[in-house]
Amino acid sequence: MNVSDRLEERLTGVRLAVLRELSQLADGHDIDLYLVGGSVRDILANAPLNDIDIMASDNPERLIASIHGRGEVEIRKASAFGTWSLTLRAVEVDLATARRETYVHPGALPKVFPGTVEDDLARRDFTINAMAISLTKDSWGDLLDPHGGLGDLEGGLIRVLHDRSFEDDATRILRAVRYTCRLNFQLESCTGSLLEKGIEYLRTISPDRVRHEMERIFREPCACAMLEMAGRSGVLTAIHPGLRADSVALRVIDAQAMQKDRARRDGLMLGSMVQSIAEYNVESIVERLNLNADWARLVRDVATVRERLRELEDEDLTRSRVYRLLHGLHENAIESCAMAERNRKAKGWLRLYLDELQHMRPLLTGSDLMALGVKEGPAVGQLLTELLDARLDGLVESVEDEEELVRRALSDLSV
Ligand code: ATP
Repeated sequence: MNVSDRLEERLTGVRLAVLRELSQLADGHDIDLYLVGGSVRDILANAPLNDIDIMASDNPERLIASIHGRGEVEIRKASAFGTWSLTLRAVEVDLATARRETYVHPGALPKVFPGTVEDDLARRDFTINAMAISLTKDSWGDLLDPHGGLGDLEGGLIRVLHDRSFEDDATRILRAVRYTCRLNFQLESCTGSLLEKGIEYLRTISPDRVRHEMERIFREPCACAMLEMAGRSGVLTAIHPGLRADSVALRVIDAQAMQKDRARRDGLMLGSMVQSIAEYNVESIVERLNLNADWARLVRDVATVRERLRELEDEDLTRSRVYRLLHGLHENAIESCAMAERNRKAKGWLRLYLDELQHMRPLLTGSDLMALGVKEGPAVGQLLTELLDARLDGLVESVEDEEELVRRALSDLSV
């Protein structure tokens, strides 16, 4: 089957020109080039096209050398496995040599050997990602589809290439969840059973690899649906028993459509996933995902907020007490707890803190206090705290009220 019309429809202008140029150069070195992986899937599915991944039938060093001589070229990275990232006239292309992989034990990084185009397609995760389109002059646009990827793309199915796929590399479980939701596909039934059985192999995956796949989920527009699917199917608890998909919080995050503030959205999703964390060893989850300092603090603070929720259920708390219970904790931790909280009173206090209390400050500053006669030192800080508490509780409103409070404190001290 030849899909050159689809290829040329989707890769227009300079991108197509760059592929033709590479094809011509490769021809001179007797190297066949293929478009592979996600690029082929997205071209055939009419989905937005991101990366351009090209596979070379042979080590493309000579090809790379000849590209070097052309203008407007940047060759950014060369890994040990014969992979290059090229930018040619502002078009980014990843170029890799065809390879064969073997897994020594579940979860290990694969051993990589040079291989054929078929070997390279056979090492991939799902049939829809295991197709190639020839970019070689004489066979330009020919589709290589040894695993029935096109049929699965048309049938809306995520299917592994062999029964040991999830065992070899359980990150594919998270990838399966991601593609299923992103493309609105279904797990092919045998793949579904293999995924269930493969869940136990998630323990073989290193913290960095698990977190990386999680981050890729967070980045997706329908990340919340993905996390719900991962929660429902036991994937999250297999990664760590303290991880859950909190549907209530996830729906709020989804409804707020915060695509632009990615850091906040990521933080809230992580926060929503660790709502049961207080029942577990908090540090064990920090370790399981090898979280950076900010995310580790977020997780620890979710645990702290949850420990304090019992007190926040009290109707009669003062606003200053609420402030003191939550002040200094990670805002995304408090917000994710507010999203997930079922108790109306506690939820209300959390929201009040986020929307109002955390932004309140006394009207007087430290220098104002010293001008009123307070000695420089700890007394300034203590009085500022008292002033803030008084403001939070509505005991002072104006500058005059605050000055009065300071004067009273000073006269108490001098008694
Ligand atoms: P996305 O749109 O999510 O980036 P992609 O297909 O480009 O999709 P990548 O993670 O960039 O995804 O991987 C590129 C290709 O490499 C995939 O299409 C797949 O063929 C292969 N691949 C990636 N990860 C794995 C894996 N863990 N096991 C097998 N093949 C993989």
